[in-house]
Amino acid sequence: MSRSGPEGRSTNQYDRRVPETHHPPCAITCHGAAGEVTGSCSLLETPAGSVLVDFGLFQGPRSSEWRNVEPPPIDFASLAAVVVTHAHVDHCGRLPMLPRLGFRGRVYCTEGTARLLPRVLRGSARLQRVRLDEFRRGMAPEAIPIWTEVGGEPAIPTAEPAVEPPFLYTPDEVETLLAMLHPLPLRRRGAIGRGLAVRFGHAGHVFGAAHAIFDLEGCDRAIAVFSGDVGSPHTGLLRPPDALPECATLVLESTRGDRLVSDTPDPDGDLAKVLEEVRSNSGTLLIPTFALGRAQQVVWRLAIAARHGRLEGLSVYLDAPMAEFALRRLDEEPEQLAEPLRTQAARGGDPFAVPGLKALFSRKQSLSIAARPSSVILAGAGFCDAGPILHHLAEGLPRPEVRVALSGWYPEGSLAWGLLRDCTHARINGQTVAVRAGIRRLEGYSGHASAEELVTWAKSGPAPPQRVILNHGTDSSRAAMASRFEELGIASQSPAPGTRLEYSI
Ligand SMILES: [Zn+2]
Repeated sequence: MSRSGPEGRSTNQYDRRVPETHHPPCAITCHGAAGEVTGSCSLLETPAGSVLVDFGLFQGPRSSEWRNVEPPPIDFASLAAVVVTHAHVDHCGRLPMLPRLGFRGRVYCTEGTARLLPRVLRGSARLQRVRLDEFRRGMAPEAIPIWTEVGGEPAIPTAEPAVEPPFLYTPDEVETLLAMLHPLPLRRRGAIGRGLAVRFGHAGHVFGAAHAIFDLEGCDRAIAVFSGDVGSPHTGLLRPPDALPECATLVLESTRGDRLVSDTPDPDGDLAKVLEEVRSNSGTLLIPTFALGRAQQVVWRLAIAARHGRLEGLSVYLDAPMAEFALRRLDEEPEQLAEPLRTQAARGGDPFAVPGLKALFSRKQSLSIAARPSSVILAGAGFCDAGPILHHLAEGLPRPEVRVALSGWYPEGSLAWGLLRDCTHARINGQTVAVRAGIRRLEGYSGHASAEELVTWAKSGPAPPQRVILNHGTDSSRAAMASRFEELGIASQSPAPGTRLEYSI
């Protein structure tokens, strides 16, 4: 079905009497996030119908963004259902294109994800409009790292060829899609039709995140599990992932497939050190923040720091309205939190209580505290490519008493990527500033499991998966994971985008 509509329709009309050799019972095609970490989109074909799992945005340079415009070769009208694992845009950001592509069915997700998707997708549509308007008025955000010889003048980089940002869907299309959402409680089975069902297991990645488990009538194990993004049990914020059920095929993310758990030593210690640097010289700590996941991690660690007196004399600002929204969702569903935080909440405590934390909701408020002395400022966007973090960086980077705390993965060539590689200057919205601020890397804040943790999770069920398909990782990450599975005697594949993998169940 990934190649043609008629073939897809014939699988929907599957007849159990047809010899299996002529009609392989299942197939999986990764149409995105195959050899990369954005654009998640996989097709599961089963004897009881086909399901799209995730429909996320390709992110990165403008050329990547334009890949979002061209839909994968799928007969969307014949899909039995769409399933979304979590509310990060690289997994859900193309969902509002579905009605226009002919899909009319249900979009299954967890109840937690359903609470976030309206905000995330409406925000995505609004952002596309704003970016296009800014581009056409010649005001597109600019954030470029520059390296200059000592004593030399910073060379202003030549502007990239002007390419408009793509505009993918309207606010009305978002509302149409939101009406198609069908939330399921965690671990509860939802019938897709003709003997096919989906259920969600807690993934411990971000609020609401789940792995999607597909069951087919007559099969004594799951026919497929799509991991979505898997959280690290060592981050300590969310409940660890549910054990993997017995399954024929596991489609496993491998974002950090080449990283070991020992890469994440001491998140509280790292933060304590940089807070002390800032307190001792009345400086500013700038933390570029992803709204969903990283922001909650950092606020929780700041709450711990506050209890140890490490925020004395510092003001804390959360300059990311979506981050504040997602934080309040965790208050509503404490069962998603790790055990110590659940206990704290059950006793009436607030694991996210940072005394004096001020959430900001307008550009005017944001500008009024630009890189303010004796403060900690969490601001979006996490990649430092847009949003209020840009004006904080423009103000703060030239000042030696400022610290910028970065963690996780950044696109090559981005300002955050350059800051971690000692760029001497930065070009931000037409202004060239010297980088005199201290750049610090915080470890232990990733929402993704390490290689060891991924393998441990893959082995957490009553029996290992019969086969593993590796996606959502670079080719080197997937290769590292593949060799680990080979050592365990588990067959794995790392398909190129669009490669259809058939298997029996
Ligand atoms: Zn994610």
